[in-house]
This record gives sequence, C-alpha cells and structure tokens, in this order.
Amino acid sequence: MTRAAQEIEHFDVVIVGAGISGVGSAYHLSQQCPGKTFVVLEGLESFGGTWLVHRYPGIRSDSDLYTFGYRFKPWTGPPIATAEKILEYMGEVVEENDLGRCIRYQHRITAAHWSSDDARWTVEGTRGDDAEPFRVSAGFLWMCQGYYRHAEGFTPDWPGMEDYQGRIVHPQTWPEDLDYRDKEVVVIGSGATTATIVPAMAGDCSHITVLQRSPTYFFPGSNRNELADTLREIDIPEEWIHTIVRKKILHDQEMLTRLSVEQPELVKAELINGVRQLLPEGFDVDTHFTPRYRPWQQRLAFVPDGDLFKGISNGKASVVTDQIVRFTEKGVLLESGDELVADIIVTATGFNLSILGDIAFSIDGEALDLAETVTWRGAMFTGVPNLAWIFGYFRASWTLRSDLIGDLVCRILHHMDEMGARRVTPQLRPDERDAPRLAWMDPDNFNPNYLMRSVHLLPKRLDRPEWQHSQDYWAEKDVLPEVDLDDGCLIFE
Ligand SMILES: Cc1cc2nc3c(=O)[nH]c(=O)nc-3n(C[C@H](O)[C@H](O)[C@H](O)COP(=O)(O)OP(=O)(O)OC[C@H]3O[C@@H](n4cnc5c(N)ncnc54)[C@H](O)[C@@H]3O)c2cc1C
Repeated sequence: MTRAAQEIEHFDVVIVGAGISGVGSAYHLSQQCPGKTFVVLEGLESFGGTWLVHRYPGIRSDSDLYTFGYRFKPWTGPPIATAEKILEYMGEVVEENDLGRCIRYQHRITAAHWSSDDARWTVEGTRGDDAEPFRVSAGFLWMCQGYYRHAEGFTPDWPGMEDYQGRIVHPQTWPEDLDYRDKEVVVIGSGATTATIVPAMAGDCSHITVLQRSPTYFFPGSNRNELADTLREIDIPEEWIHTIVRKKILHDQEMLTRLSVEQPELVKAELINGVRQLLPEGFDVDTHFTPRYRPWQQRLAFVPDGDLFKGISNGKASVVTDQIVRFTEKGVLLESGDELVADIIVTATGFNLSILGDIAFSIDGEALDLAETVTWRGAMFTGVPNLAWIFGYFRASWTLRSDLIGDLVCRILHHMDEMGARRVTPQLRPDERDAPRLAWMDPDNFNPNYLMRSVHLLPKRLDRPEWQHSQDYWAEKDVLPEVDLDDGCLIFE
C-alpha cells in the first residue's frame, strides 16, 4: 500500500448522500453486512436530500408512501405525504437504527480517485462552514447522490428576462421571504411541481396562471387508502398493513402500466375523463389537459383529492397553453400575441441533471467519462471498479429500486469477501465488445425533458438485459435478487 493511502481515514464503504437512497443504503449495509465499516458523506446540513432542499409551498410526494417508503419501515400516514412528514419518517429510520453516528453532514465531495495499486478510492472534498479540505479512502463507493444538481434548478434562457421587473423564482431555490399574497403569479411548467404549487398558493394569490407549452397527464384521486383504513380498523399490525397495501398498490400500478402499453388510447381516454369530471362544463380539456405523448412516456402526476382542479373551477387559477416569445417588463409575451402580466413568475421548468454528484472521478490517473461506459443493470459501469450507483424508477417509486439495489450491492460485497477479491469491475464479454451502444434510455419508452437534454452525458446500454437500466420494477423485483454474479459481466480480482 502506498504511504498516502496509509495516512488517511479508511472505510470499507463510503456512501455518498443522505437522501432517501443514502439512508436506505446505510440501513441495508448495516443489516446485511454488519462487519463492514462505513460512513455516509452528505454535503447538506441534514438528511433528506430532495425533501430537505425543496421548500416551495405545498411540497409533497406524488408517489404513495407505501411504495416510496422503505420496504422495511411501515408508513402509517395518508399515502401522499408532505416533505415534512417524509423527513420525519426518515428521521425515525436514522434514529431507530442508530445511523446518525455514521453520517457526516456538510461534507461535500468534489473528487474521487481510484488506485488499482491500493484497490481503493480516495475521496476528497470540503467540510463545514469554512470549507476545510478533507480526504477519506474507501474500498467501495456507494453513490446515492440523486439525479439533479441540488444547488440550482433548470431555467431556460428566454429572451428579455433581464427586462422583467417582477421576481423570477425557481421552486428548487424558493426564497423564504417571498410574499405572494394578493399578487399575480404565473407558473411556467406543467409537471408535478406545478400541480403542487398551484393549489398551495391559489388561496393567497390574487390569481395564479399555469403557463404550459404542452399538457401533462394527471391522475386525480383521494389521498387515502381504503384497504389500509380497513386493515387498521380491524387492528392488523402496521408491518402487515405496510406489506399488504404495498403489494396491492404495486399490483394496481402494474395493471395500469401494462394497460398503458397495450391500450394507450383507452388509458389516455380514462385519464382525461377523470380530469374533465373535475372541471367546469365547457372547459377546454382538449387544449389544456390532452397530452401529445403516450401515457407511459413520462411520469404520471397524481393529484391528491383533485386539488389542482378545484382552484381552476373556482376561478383562482387558470391554464394557458402557449409558447413564450419573450419576457417583457410586466410579464411574458406569448406566440398568440397575448401578454401574461405577473408580479411573480415561478419557473417550474425542471432540473439540471447531475449524474454522479458533480464529482470529478478518475481511475488510475485517467479522468472518467461516464458517457463512454456501459451500464451494468443500472447499478455499475464498465471499467469503473468498486462503485455502485442508485438511480431509481421513474414510473414506480424511486425507493423500490434503491431497496433492490441495496440488496444487490450487499450481495456483491459478500461475494467479494467469499472470493477474497479486492476489486469488482463490470466488463463487456468478448462477444459484446463490438455490439452497438445505445442511448441510456429508449426515448420511446421514457422521454422527460431533463433526461432528453442530457442523455449524451449518461452511460450507454446494449440490447441485453445485463447491460440495461430497466425501468420495470415488476421484472426487476424477480430478476435482480437472482442475478448470477459469475456470468462473466463482473470481473472479481
Ligand atoms: C420535488 C420532487 C418531488 C419528487 N417526488 C417523488 C415522488 O413522489 N416519488 C418518486 O419516486 N420520486 C420523486 N422524486 C424524485 C426524487 O428525487 C427521488 O425519488 C428521491 O427522493 C431521490 O432520493 P435520493 O436519495 O436518491 O437523492 P436526493 O434526494 O437527490 O439526495 C441526494 C443527496 O446526495 C447529496 N449529494 C449529492 N452530491 C453530493 C456530493 N458531491 N457530496 C456530498 N453529498 C452529495 C445531496 O446533498 C442530497 O442530500 C421527486 C423529486 C423532486 C425534486
């Protein structure tokens, strides 16, 4: 071992990020590999990730917490939860499992270097308010950094933005002092964030207008789970309720996903009908709530208790479907020639994709370009040793995948120990080396804008399940636990 490697604090595993994936991964590691030393390094001042960063009005999940919650920790509240409740839930997981002592906050990682001589990663970054440099080393890096840059959201560069005299706000960096009472507000965007912000603000603003380029599918429904309520009434233990309700929701979602692929027109009609019923008669549903894409191509936004549509029905909120030509002093000028006047413009226009936490990776001195790699089961990358990556599902709850990958990583760590291996690296098998490399995600399968903007930065896939990032929980829940670690895709040395 080199002298430099001997001098720094070493862990068997370093987990990057204490969001829902990082905390879950720490749990799995501590339960399934109790002999491993590990630390979770988190850039922020506390755990929570997404649920800590986002502070816009109404911030809540759009997945139910029976499936967005961990499989090992019962969820006992209403299915759709506020950020506050999700943080409380995660806090209980941290406390009940004594994970707090393994998490180091305000530790932002900036670089990670792999040394084959030492068979370890050296992780560098800055910590604390003074950004003091730190270094630790890790036998294995478990990346739970999420998928977007936490410090700032994505705002398109519209002409004339500098002329606008009002305030432009991105939901990801919501100003604490923003007073929107009795103000005219325009929210640009049509996704889940808009569906959350609009009902939360509508009661206080003078008026709130959703400005969208194109419509989204919404799935209105009650924010309660009847099965869970019934099971609670008859005194079934919460652990059982969690398992049963989770299975039932996943079963229903599977049916909906299959139907969306097999009979998209039927699902489309059903979804649009559901929305139509919540809007006043004569509302132009065709223009504002009839998407151009097929129902499975982007995430479905659940609208608890149809609250988005209540604001539209009572006149506090409205929808405009049009394109922005430019910002003006007072608002935005649209292609139709209309000008939308606003005191505040909220740009709910999405994320800047950040695949590996903006960390500069190198392997034996050579900078890593992730776009040159091929993904192994959406969990590791060819040529990148001892590194696993959590990237959850889009159509199903993210955490379902982080639990599954948690098991897989622990299995790989055990396998390394059994084999006496210090290094595991995905590598294409000889007959796969010349196979055509495809984009990480088939755009026909899933095509949200933030992914399409950055797909060139993502790892590639091959036309084989081993070398793909599946978005199909229902297949992966059976496949991943059975993956043959000795099928030649992973090289153990
Ligand atoms: C507003 C919003 C609502 C969402 N709702 C849902 C939903 O209902 N259902 C669903 O399935 N998905 C939802 N998502 C997607 C959501 O991001 C994930 O489901 C999930 O919370 C991601 O968890 P994570 O732990 O993987 O990543 P994150 O929550 O993004 O956490 C990553 C953590 O890693 C830390 N980190 C990153 N880089 C570094 C670094 N270099 N050094 C140190 N620390 C670092 C970050 O500070 C952060 O704390 C939503 C996303 C947003 C933005």
